[in-house]
Amino acid sequence: MFYAQKVDRRSRAAMESFLSHHFTYGGVFAHRAKLHHLGLPKPLEDKAWEVFTSDDDYWSKIWDPVRDFQESHGHAYTILNAGRSSGYLALHHSQSVWTEYRSYCRTCGQRNYRKVAPALPDDPLERAVATEILKNGGSWSDSAYLGQEAIRSLPNTDEEKLAAIRRLKPEWKEYSSTNRCGACGAEGEEGRVNYAKPPMHLQILGGVHREDPIEMDIDELRYTVDLVLSFDRTCDRVRDRFIDLLQHCEVREAVVMVPQTIRTLHCAC
Ligand SMILES: [Zn+2]
Ligand SMILES: [Zn+2]
Ligand SMILES: [Zn+2]
Repeated sequence: MFYAQKVDRRSRAAMESFLSHHFTYGGVFAHRAKLHHLGLPKPLEDKAWEVFTSDDDYWSKIWDPVRDFQESHGHAYTILNAGRSSGYLALHHSQSVWTEYRSYCRTCGQRNYRKVAPALPDDPLERAVATEILKNGGSWSDSAYLGQEAIRSLPNTDEEKLAAIRRLKPEWKEYSSTNRCGACGAEGEEGRVNYAKPPMHLQILGGVHREDPIEMDIDELRYTVDLVLSFDRTCDRVRDRFIDLLQHCEVREAVVMVPQTIRTLHCAC
């Protein structure tokens, strides 16, 4: 354990001391994570510089422990890279929120804010109404739909037609007319489908500031100590992942040709 310490949770004094001596960055519980503060032997530190200056995003390869941390705290806390050149790991409040995405593309994964329409209703009136609403996203007034040829020509009374328009519009205006993906153009079996539940997104809130532990009641003190210990252990696991990556990966240099469009002047004079 590099960051984590042992704390006697039976002792109020030990817990107070642990919190008041814990490293903070801008008042927020944190750890130093600059390369020369990772306690690495020289050859690994040199390797770390190589990895640090490579063009690959190595953070995503060592970040799993933070996802476990989020999960085990009900997404109420997370850990961020903070400070210049991500020199610190800092404990933050967070919350899980529903995204506005309603469907995604089965070919390219692109997310979309609109739902894909289900099969059209069987009833001829409902079918005509749903089709007309899909055509323009339900943006017309009820009486404007009533005037559409496909609806006007049906034998139902105007009252029945208006009732169907009012009933179907709130739902059918949420649907896009096809399941074509705006990004890759896939449709039909390859195109967009609705999420069973909209995906969640982790919203990051402010840092967890160190309050004066003397002011805390015993439950709050224990809760904070447990949280910070869990934070410390997670930082250790991220550091372990990083060391593992240093031992098993190497930076290879390659020259790549990048296609480029150039516009030059050609004159006939
Ligand atoms: Zn330093
Ligand atoms: Zn979760
Ligand atoms: Zn797509």
